[in-house]
Formats: sequence, C-alpha cells, structure tokens
Amino acid sequence: MKQQSIDTICVQGGWQPGNGEPRQVPIIQSTTFKYENTDEMARLFDLEKEGYFYTRLQNPTSDAVAAKIAALEGGVAAMLTSSGQAANFYAVFNICEAGSHIISSNEIYGGTYNLFGVTLPKLGIECTFVSPDATDEEILAAVRPNTRAFFGETISNPGCRVLDIERFARLAHSVGVPLIVDNTFATPVNCRPLEWGADIITHSTTKYMDGHATQVGGVIVDGGIFDWEANADKYPGLTRPDASYHGLTYTKTFGKCAYAVKLTAQLMRDLGSTPSPQNSFLLNLGLETLHLRMPRHCENALAVARFLQADERVAWVSFPGLEDNRDHALAVRYLPNGSCGVLCFGLKGDRDTAVRFMDSLKLISIATHVADARSCVLHPASHTHRQLSEEQLRDAGIAPDLIRLSVGIEGIDDILTDLRQALDAIG
Ligand SMILES: *Cc1c(COP(=O)(O)O)cnc(C)c1O
Repeated sequence: MKQQSIDTICVQGGWQPGNGEPRQVPIIQSTTFKYENTDEMARLFDLEKEGYFYTRLQNPTSDAVAAKIAALEGGVAAMLTSSGQAANFYAVFNICEAGSHIISSNEIYGGTYNLFGVTLPKLGIECTFVSPDATDEEILAAVRPNTRAFFGETISNPGCRVLDIERFARLAHSVGVPLIVDNTFATPVNCRPLEWGADIITHSTTKYMDGHATQVGGVIVDGGIFDWEANADKYPGLTRPDASYHGLTYTKTFGKCAYAVKLTAQLMRDLGSTPSPQNSFLLNLGLETLHLRMPRHCENALAVARFLQADERVAWVSFPGLEDNRDHALAVRYLPNGSCGVLCFGLKGDRDTAVRFMDSLKLISIATHVADARSCVLHPASHTHRQLSEEQLRDAGIAPDLIRLSVGIEGIDDILTDLRQALDAIG
C-alpha cells in the first residue's frame, strides 16, 4: 500500500478497529488484564508473547496512540511517557549509564538543560553543551571515548534556533553514536528528523501534539536505523544479555525494535513514568487535527513576527520564518512548510517594560505553556528558566529581555489588536 500522507495518519493512524469495534480508540482504564492460565501469563513476563498484563508496562489505549506517532515520524515503534521530561530522560538513559557522556546543543528547553546539566551528573552521566553554531571540529573536540549520544531540538525552546539535523547526525555517526532529536516544536507535520539522519525522536506531547492544554505527556520514537551491534561495546545494555530477563539480548531478539523494546520492558518497568489511558485518549484527540492546526499556527506567527518587526518599540524579533533570521536558510531546508507558532522578541526598554507589556495583554494570556491553540506569553528569565544564573541564561541563548510568544489559532486581527494595545500601554 502507498505510504499514507501525514494528514491521513493524523486522523486515522494507530487505532484500527475490527468489525463492530468502537470507531474511536477506547479508553482502557484498567491497571490489569485477565488470563485463563498461568503459562500464558508467564510467557508475557518473559517477553515471549505480546500482550497486556499491567498498565505500567503497556496499555492498549496508549499503544494505539504511540503507534500513530511512530507512523507520523516514520519510526518503527514508539512509547508514550507521562511527560516530555520523562521522554528525554528515558531516551538518554536507555543507552547511558554511570560513566557515560553525551553531547547536547546548548539551545534546548530549560528543563532538559537542568536534566542534562544537573540531574544526570548525579547519576554519573556527564553532558557537554555545544553551541549549534560551533564548527565540526569544535563539536568533535567535545567527543570522549565514553560519549554515547548527541542531542538537539529541531526548533529550540525558547530561542527558536533551528538545528542543522543532517550535520549533527553526520558528526554523531562519525563517532559511532546516535542523534536524539526533540521534535516538539516542529512536530512531524513540519519536519521528520528521521529523514534527515536522526536516530531517535522525542516529544513533549504536552505541546502542539495535544494542542489544547489538556494533558502533560511525552513520547520516544525509535527510528530503527541505528546499528547498535556495529557499536556493541558502547551499548552493552542492548547488545549483551539482560540479567533481568533471563539473559535475553534485545538486539538479537527484537532486531530493529531493540531500543524501543528495552525502553518499555526495562525502563518503564523499573521507573514507571506511565501516562494514564485517559491522557493518551486526550492526546489522540489533539493529534487528529495536528495537520490542520500547525499551518494556522505558522501563518499567524509569521504575521505576528512581521508586525512586531515593523514596530519601532520592538528591539528584536527571532522567528526562523523571517527572511533576515540567522537560521532562515536552515528553516527553508528543514521546515519548508513553516516552523511553528512560537517566536521570541525583546522590547526597547528594561525588564519593567517587558512586564508592563505582558500585564497589558488581554486576549493573549500569561501562561507557563506554549504550543497551545490559545495564544500565550511568558518571560523565561522570570518564569521557566529562573533557576538559571545570568551566565547560564546567556549560555542557553536566552536574553534577559526575551519574551516568548506562543501564537495560537485565533483570528489574526484579534491577536494583532491585542499586541498593538499592549504596546501602546507601555508608552
Ligand atoms: C515542554 C518541553 C519539554 C518538557 O516537556 P513536559 O511535557 O513539560 O515534561 C521538553 N522539550 C521541549 C522542547 C519542550 O518544549
């Protein structure tokens, strides 16, 4: 069968009902599943048979939604998590252990920056942050014998930098490690990083995929392409027998899905950041219209970016869709249909000016959220990134005056009217 379009997968991917079954994916709100005999259950526990026995490991509702996202990204399998933070932690921890090292773009979400820079080191996993503008030589100079992965965000939150996915993938592969890409802001509607050489994709599904601010969630997609066996010494967890599964070896038993199966069978079993079936259902509702919402987010954001850029009270605007943006060439390449609805800008004046502007907005709400159908705004230096020092802020590419505006899918005239009156209010 011909490969279905992203639009069709958004609407119909994942749940495939049989005759007389519910058209919409059912919410299987059950912790457990019943079996007729002990042997059948034992074989499930030994991963010899596929099936459900406890929702911490797998649940039919969540699996149907994961299958839709795997298809959207063009991967072989996916696993939902209870948050985007959990997704990025699992994605790294599935191939790292105490003594491992990763290399990450420094243009990433504040929560991930903390996870890599502060929390992972407590587990003995170190991270070197590199600028996406660093040369190949500079990035390769950060590689160590114990480096196990490269990491970056397709479009960074909040800086809106665009990752040169192909270059990062080439560098990662040249030293025998995979590239993990957080594709939250672009979504597979605007970019499919696996097609550019990335190996593993993560998302905070809390954002555009959900799109309506109803559930916090995450997902990891296994591209099924990285050759773990060829780098077996680096990835003993995948290529050597797992003592917690009677000596089963993931790459031998599960082939292309080795990474994905280990995520579920080992990490989810032991760490348990499972989404609720109800939340997976809500995520699926969001996904059904992702292909319709993304173009509108992009169109509105471009109009807002142009409006702000033309206003003399605005000091700067960062949006990859603008022709004079430093990442515009990368955006044209990786995001030809549009980037996302998020943009950043700074106002002329001081910190107070930013606060007065934000407090004057009426339609656009102040919210610790982005990528929602409703327009919202945030000041990272005083909200999401307030744990970071001035120096770390600068390292993470966040100017103290940076206002992050997530443009929703309301009528563009109403959004612009609100921005105009708030600009007038700062005098
Ligand atoms: C929000 C976000 C996360 C964290 O996701 P949660 O669902 O809030 O845990 C990770 N990466 C990016 C790019 C994000 O925007």
